[in-house]
Order: sequence, then structure tokens, then C-alpha cells
Amino acid sequence: MRSDSVKKIALERIKTLFEQAETTNDLKLSNRYVFLARKLAMKANISMPRVYKRRYCKHCYNYFIPNKTCQVRTTKKKIVSYLCLKCNKRTRIPYHTRTKK
Ligand SMILES: [Zn+2]
Repeated sequence: MRSDSVKKIALERIKTLFEQAETTNDLKLSNRYVFLARKLAMKANISMPRVYKRRYCKHCYNYFIPNKTCQVRTTKKKIVSYLCLKCNKRTRIPYHTRTKK
């Protein structure tokens, strides 16, 4: 019971941290928010929600702002590729078109 509410609160805080990371113009501050959000997720033992997982670099945790801190490309293999301009590595996220079924 207790851990459930801890997770809820952590999720809430992660949400507000990413909201703030989005609104601020200070890159250092956005990276700090990402750092804090990750710490929170780790402490509450939850995985980062998918929406937020793709907003920062998998390798150096740099906050992604398209055409500013990263380049976004889609490939023929149905992958969204984020090229981080800080560490020059790619974070790849597959996308599926679920038209069948
Ligand atoms: Zn990076």
C-alpha cells in the first residue's frame, strides 16, 4: 500500500519536472530536471514513462530539443532516430503502424 502511493507521487513529480524542462530556455536547467526525474524513478523503483523516456539522450541524458540539441530522423526500418548533438550517439525508438488486427 505504502509503496503504491510513493510511486504515484514520484510519477507526479516526474511529470512536473518534464513540464518545467520543456518550458525553460536554460539547457543546463532542463538537463538537471532530467537528472532529477531519473533519480526519482530509480528511488521509487519505477520505469520512466514512455512519453518521457524519449525526451532525453539514452547515453548522456541530454534533454532533446529538436534541431537544437538533437536531430530527429525516421528511417525505412520504422525507427525514429535521435542524433544527440552532445555525445553524437543515436537514440533509436521503433514505431509501428498498427493498421492490421
Ligand atoms: Zn547524448
